[in-house]
Parts: sequence; structure tokens; C-alpha cells
Amino acid sequence: MMDLEVMQRAYEHAISYLDSLPERRVGPDVTVEQLRRALGGPLPIGGMDATTVIDELVRDADPGVMGTAGPRFFGFVIGGSLPAALAADWLTSTWDQNAGLYAASPSASVVEEISASWLIELFGLPAGVSTAFVTGAQMAHFTSLAAARHHVLAAQGWDVEAQGLVGAPPIRVLASDEHHSTVDRALRYLGLGTACIESIATDAQGRASTVDMITALRSSSGPTIVCLQAGDVNSGAFDEIGPICDAAHEVGAWVHVDGAFGLWARTSGASRHLTEGMEKADSWTTDGHKMLNVPYDSGYAFCAHPDSHNAAVAVHASYLIHAEGRQRDQVDWTPEFSRRARGFATYAAIKFLGRSGIEEMVDRMCAHARRFAEGLSAEPGVEILNDVVLDQVLVAFTGRDGADIAPAVVEGVQRDGTCWLSGTVWKGRPAMRISVANWSTTTEDVDRSVEAIARVARGLRAG
Ligand SMILES: *Cc1c(COP(=O)(O)O)cnc(C)c1O
Repeated sequence: MMDLEVMQRAYEHAISYLDSLPERRVGPDVTVEQLRRALGGPLPIGGMDATTVIDELVRDADPGVMGTAGPRFFGFVIGGSLPAALAADWLTSTWDQNAGLYAASPSASVVEEISASWLIELFGLPAGVSTAFVTGAQMAHFTSLAAARHHVLAAQGWDVEAQGLVGAPPIRVLASDEHHSTVDRALRYLGLGTACIESIATDAQGRASTVDMITALRSSSGPTIVCLQAGDVNSGAFDEIGPICDAAHEVGAWVHVDGAFGLWARTSGASRHLTEGMEKADSWTTDGHKMLNVPYDSGYAFCAHPDSHNAAVAVHASYLIHAEGRQRDQVDWTPEFSRRARGFATYAAIKFLGRSGIEEMVDRMCAHARRFAEGLSAEPGVEILNDVVLDQVLVAFTGRDGADIAPAVVEGVQRDGTCWLSGTVWKGRPAMRISVANWSTTTEDVDRSVEAIARVARGLRAG
């Protein structure tokens, strides 16, 4: 018999956590060592009552749970969870579907189908692009670049799935010197290695030089993949995707777009211009767990060449029951075999917000980012390092002796607990990075956070 009492208890813990989020201290309140002591101990020999397991887990883990789902978390690029998406995610765990095959879960399959078509329409991608629901942008890059690898080598008469890469024509990858580290790792996983990257210089905002990119494309032939950024992880800047796609296609190159959060600019009339010509690319990556505010984990790959996508990742086994006709199973589009039914949470998020709700949410995040920049730039010793085109703000802090004090300000703000954000180095300069990606952040949350940051910075400047 299923123990329903433990479900009820988990539900109560979850609700009280959600209730606490707006006012809860954002950063953790314990050290990792304290957590090890609280949660550790010898391997349990006998079991224990399920409700006690959950009560103790909450008691011991709660102090180290980061308030990433709350309204004043601005670290990395981490979204929260829309209530509808979180509720759908609870049901996803409850239903416990294996979303690899239509035969294993028709509803999970159809919901991914429908959600994919909604996402394609939202992003204005060409009709007929193929989709993969994966864990995040990392695996979406892997999936997209596996398709790219297949495509550019097939054009040379090389079957990489059968022959591997030993003896294959070398592939050249063009990417800016600010490209995200997950692109490197996808290239490593694919056996291409990072030495195949030809690095293209960027401007002060982190945009690839279009002229250098086009020159590099025309300078030699052979299989080429171009990786562009729609939303630099630090500055939020966008490469000039349209013109680069035109030049790439003249020489048969494949263009992959890293739009982990930036692809969402497509959904808003105010920021769509940043993505001009993006529909001409060959593959795209974005996340559900960032701007859309679907719980972890959720990422999407889109590919304009379904046959190459399918050839790169499809799988066959005698005991599988494959779907008939044109519609292939999810195992044939994703690098996973057994897999979580990630589509339900995405489906719920899109249904809850609708096109207009998504646009409003993205616009709100961007307005909050601009408010951060305005509020902080009024402070002495503060400099905003980027044009705030989307939801990212880079802030430098100078002490009265002229030294960069951003790392100390970041540390002080994390300790203060009002909000949480982290640091980076931008074009050689230490900076605080602020990323607004939570649906529930209000103007008051931004103002409270600006105040907290200013308080810490003033204290440090006073010495
Ligand atoms: C977050 C991010 C990634 C990695 O995404 P995951 O979902 O963490 O795998 C890649 N590129 C950019 C620009 C990002 O912001």
C-alpha cells in the first residue's frame, strides 16, 4: 500500500517553503561542513518510517537550500518556477512516465509534440524544425552539434555514425572569444575537441566581429560549424546572426545559435530586433529553466535539418516499440534513452502564461535589469560595464583608492542575505553580474536589492 501520509507531509513542507520564499534569507545559512555533519552518518542498515525520512531531510537540508526559486536571487542565470509549471512537475514525478517512446507514455509524447510546436511558433523558427527536450543548454548543444557534425561530414561523403572521426575530414568551428564553456564541452563530448575552434574577436559588449567572422568563413573551405551567441552569459549581448548566417550558407557551413536565455528575446516586441535573421540558422539551443521559469531541468534543441538530427541520435533495439509513420519517438531525437517526461512542465508554463504572458514576463525581467543599472549607477564608485539590452547587468565597483572592489562587494552582499548574486571578470575587469530571470521579482525586490548592494559598497568605500 502506498504511504499517503508521507505525500501529505511533503506537500505541507513544500507549501511552507513556497510561502517563506519572498522573505526568506536568500543565501544559505550554514557551511558545507555543517551540512555534512547534519546529513551524514553511516550507511543505514535498517530502514525507517517514510514520514520521518522526509521530516529529517527537510530539517537537515533546509538551511543549505539556496533561495534560487525566490524573487531576489540574481546569481548565474537561474530562473524560478511558475506555480503551474511546478505543479505539473510534481505530477510528472507522480506519474513517473518513461518519456522515451510513444508506446511507453502516449501522453508524455503528445505533450512534447504540442509544446514543441508552441515553442517553434513563439520563437518564429521555420516550420518543420525538429526538437529535443533535454536537461539544459549543455545537452541541447550536444544534440545540435551532433546533428551539425553529421551534416557537414555527410556533405563530404563521410558517415561519422559508422566510421567515427579517425581519418575523417577535419571540422573547423568558428566561435567568438566569449562563447559559453558548454559549447567547448559539447565539442569535447563529440570527439571534435576544442582545438578545432577558431576564435573570433569580440567588441566591448562581447559581440563577435561580423567582419572577422565573414572573413574567416571565406578564408578556407572544408566542413565548418559556426557557433553564435544570442545572449552572452555575462553581458547579454547578441552576435549579428542574420548576416553571418548568409555568409556561412554561401560556403556550406552550419550555424548553431546558443540562445540559452537570449532566444526568449524573440518572444517580445521590445527585444526581438536583437535576434534579427536568427531564423536562418541551422540549429538553436535554449533553456526552459531560465527565462520561462520551468523547474530544473529543462532545455530544448531545435534543428532545421531533421534528417541530420535524427541520423545523429536515433537508436534501435529489438525490444522497443517504435512509433509508426513520420512521427518518431523521443529516443530518436534526444541523447537519452529512458527519460523524464519534461514536456509536462513546459506545456503547463506556456498554457498558463500564453504568448502575451510570456512577452510581459520577459519585458518585466528586462525592465528590472535596467532599473538595477539606473539605481546602482547613481552610487559613487559604480560603473555599469554593459549596454543592458536584456536581463544581464555587469557592475564594476571602485574603492576610494581606485582599486576594483567588486569581489568584496559581491561577498558582502552574499553575506548580507537580502539578495544573492555573484561575480565575474569582464574584459579583464572584476565585476558583479546581475541576472534577472525570476517570474516573481517585483520592482520592490529590485529596489531592496539595490539598497543592500549600495549599503555594502558604501561600507567598503568608507573602509
Ligand atoms: C546557462 C547557459 C548555458 C548552459 O545552460 P545549462 O542549461 O546550464 O546547460 C549555455 N549558454 C549560455 C549562454 C547560458 O546562459
